[in-house]
Amino acid sequence: MRTARLTSGRHFPIGKILCIGRNYTDHIKELGNATPEAPVIFIKPASSVIGEGEAVVIPPYSSDCHHEVELALLIGRKGKDIPVDQAMDYIAGYGVGIDLTLRDVQSEQKKKGLPWEIAKGFDTACPLSSFVEASAVADPQNLRIRMTVNGGVRQDGNTSGMIHRIPAIISHMSGSFTLDPGDVILTGTPAGVSRIVPGDQLVAEIPGVATLRVSVA
Ligand code: ZN
Repeated sequence: MRTARLTSGRHFPIGKILCIGRNYTDHIKELGNATPEAPVIFIKPASSVIGEGEAVVIPPYSSDCHHEVELALLIGRKGKDIPVDQAMDYIAGYGVGIDLTLRDVQSEQKKKGLPWEIAKGFDTACPLSSFVEASAVADPQNLRIRMTVNGGVRQDGNTSGMIHRIPAIISHMSGSFTLDPGDVILTGTPAGVSRIVPGDQLVAEIPGVATLRVSVA
């Protein structure tokens, strides 16, 4: 699945996936991290994307893969140095994504001062739903966002809990990276991240926007 599909039928080849770390206070607390002054940015490659009904494959070098449910923005216009007050015009649609993270590998990389790609950009590390048109979402900053594993609720937050709001994220990211149609932005995860294991059934959901079901191989 390397194509982002909108409910209207429009679709884009998926480009880069820009992610923000530590963007909900409750999640920062649960990992014992400090609140960063500037947003923490990282990228997942398009090769990490899977879609509805597909399976996550946890790499053999990890034994602690965590789910992070996140509001996903699909970019519909090219932009660089986008002002905050124009940022919302660049969003084509909204969906839900899972920022899969090999927590053991990430911790090891952080300790050594090494980059995170092998912990967050591996094949299948980015399950993504289809997207609803941006015009169909009245207030993207007030959406319930949930993650269940085998029917049990693990994460149940609201996008109102973001530290850096959507327009600020887009503006900030576009200062370093030209945004292109088909790029995806993951906006951070609320509290409740936890380990997944082979056989688990994952459901990521933003009620009224998108639902995404994947399994763990
Ligand atoms: Zn994340």
